[in-house]
Amino acid sequence: MLISGLRLVRTLPCLAESDKLIVVAQPDQALDGVLPLLNALLPNVISYNPMGGVMTLRRRPGLITLYPDRVMITQVASVDEGLVLLAAVRDLLNRVWDRRDEIQPDLQSRAVPRPLDVYELLPRTNCRACGEATCMAFAFGLLEGRHHPERCPSLADPVFATQHRALVDMLINSAGETASLQPD
Ligand code: SF4
Repeated sequence: MLISGLRLVRTLPCLAESDKLIVVAQPDQALDGVLPLLNALLPNVISYNPMGGVMTLRRRPGLITLYPDRVMITQVASVDEGLVLLAAVRDLLNRVWDRRDEIQPDLQSRAVPRPLDVYELLPRTNCRACGEATCMAFAFGLLEGRHHPERCPSLADPVFATQHRALVDMLINSAGETASLQPD
């Protein structure tokens, strides 16, 4: 076992969805040692900085960011849901750590595009057809895995064909496949 607990230390308003929370928790052991193992196993790693010991995982919806001394989960509906998610993260970290002798650590860094990088490939008309109030909100949704580019009808216009292709490539290259808290 790597950690016995992830203690909820505070909640913050979530920038992506105003009625949701960010939960911030503290582990009772440093987490940087388990990150290369997660990087080797999980399909939902969207960024990893081995020098800083920081990793972000995609979940649906939201993100989980692991620091050596902190865990942050975005787009959480309530404190109760946050506690359930923290318990799931703790169990995941312990399961992977317990298998460390059979996993080849992966120290390769991964980078995720910034929201502005995604926004610049969108039509930027804020037409709301995707269900978001602005193209920037849609860009956040794409990075968090809440949206798919096809949800923006303007991207189907041949005028945006180049941007559409670049956007799909950017998201595929940065985000991997599906989100899951379970290692394969
Ligand atoms: S449908 Fe497309 S152009 Fe309209 S707000 Fe959403 S992302 Fe922007």
